[in-house]
Amino acid sequence: MKVLAILYDGGKAAREEPRLLGTTENRLGIEQWLKDQGHELIVSSDKEGPNSVFQKEIETADITTPFHPGYLTRDLIAKAKNLKLCVTAGVGSDHIDLNAANEKKITVAEVSGSNVVSVAEHVVMSILLLVRNFVPAHEMIERGDWQVSQIARQAFDLEGKVVGTIGAGRIGYRVLERLKPFDCKELLYFDYAAVPQHAADRIGIRRVEKLEDMLAQCDVVTVNCPLHEGTRDLINAESIKHMKKGAWLVNTARGAICNAEAVKAAVESGHLSGYAGDVWNVQPAPKDHPWRTMKNPLGGGNGMVPHYSGTTLDAQYRYATGTKQILANFFEGKEQDIANVIVTNGDYATKAYGQRVAAKV
Ligand code: NAD
Repeated sequence: MKVLAILYDGGKAAREEPRLLGTTENRLGIEQWLKDQGHELIVSSDKEGPNSVFQKEIETADITTPFHPGYLTRDLIAKAKNLKLCVTAGVGSDHIDLNAANEKKITVAEVSGSNVVSVAEHVVMSILLLVRNFVPAHEMIERGDWQVSQIARQAFDLEGKVVGTIGAGRIGYRVLERLKPFDCKELLYFDYAAVPQHAADRIGIRRVEKLEDMLAQCDVVTVNCPLHEGTRDLINAESIKHMKKGAWLVNTARGAICNAEAVKAAVESGHLSGYAGDVWNVQPAPKDHPWRTMKNPLGGGNGMVPHYSGTTLDAQYRYATGTKQILANFFEGKEQDIANVIVTNGDYATKAYGQRVAAKV
C-alpha cells in the first residue's frame, strides 16, 4: 500500500535528535517497518498548491497521515481515489473535512490521549505565566533593567481566582485536575457532554450550562475543545464582551476557535490582560500575525509560542507508537481501538466534533 505522510521539516535539530519523530527526516520511525512489509512510504512537507507533493500523491495514496497539517479538503478527498484511512499522528482532526470523509467511507483515526498531558501541562504553565506577568519580567532582565513595580503592578496569585475550561474532555479535565492544588476559588467547565459525576467530584469542578455565563464568572478561560463548525470563531468580539475586564485567555486547542482581530483588540485595550497559546489560525504564522506582537497597555500579556505544546519528545514517542499501531491494525484487518476513531463507515464514532442529533451525513 502507499502511505503518504505530511510532516514538518526538522532540519539540523532532527538530524541531531532522532527522537524528533514527527519530522520529515525521522519519518515517525516507521519507514523500515513499512518497507519490510512491502509498503511504500512517501514523506514530504510540501503541501500547498496543486503541484505540491501532498496534492499530487494524495490522488493515489491508500493511507495518509496529513498532520503537518495537510488540509484534506472536500476537493482533495474527491480526487483521492484509493484513500481508505487518514491517521492523525497526534490529536485533533479538524484539518480533514470529516463530512466528506464520511461520504466516501474513509476512516479518520487519531492517537487519542497521546499528548493530552503534554498540552495540559502547557496550559497550566501558560495560565501561570500570564497571571504572574512572567514574560515582561524576563524580558526586563534580558534588557539589563530592574524595575520591580513595573512588573508587580500586573502580577497576581492564581489562588483565589476562578478558572473555566471550554471543553472538559481529556485535556480540559486534566487542566482542571492539575489546578486543584492551587486553591482556585472555583474550577468551572462548559461542555455539552457532562463530566461523569465521580470524576467531577474528585477534583471539585462545576458545570456551567451557558458559555456566556461561564465567561462572565472566570478570571481565566482556557479553550480545550476541538475545532468544528460549532467552535470556529467561538471566541469573538461579542463573546469577549462577556468576559471580565482584566481576564486572561489561554488557547492551545486550535487558533481558529478564537478570532484573531478580536483577541488583539481586547488585549490592546486591556479588556483582556493577556492571551497565551501555541495554535494559530494560519500555520506557520506569518511574520506580521497580530498575535506575535500584541501587548496589553502595560506592555505584557502575550504568551504565544509556536505550535509545540503537544509535541514534546515524550509525546512524539507516544504518537509515533500509536500511529504504527493504527497502521498495523489496518494492515492486519483488526478492529481499531474505538477511542482512536473519529469517523468510520460513513459515520461519526466520536461525539467530540459537535452535537450531532443524526450522526449520519
Ligand atoms: P477530547 O475529545 O477528549 O475532548 C474534547 C471535548 O470538547 C469533549 O468533551 C467535547 O464534548 C468538547 N466539545 C466539543 N465541542 C464543544 C463545544 N462547542 N463547546 C464546549 N465543549 C465542546 O479531546 P482532547 O484530547 O481533550 O483534545 C481537544 C483538542 O485539543 C483537540 O481536538 C485538538 O484540537 C487540541 N489539541 C491541541 C494540541 C496542541 O499541540 N496544541 C495537542 C492535542 C490536542
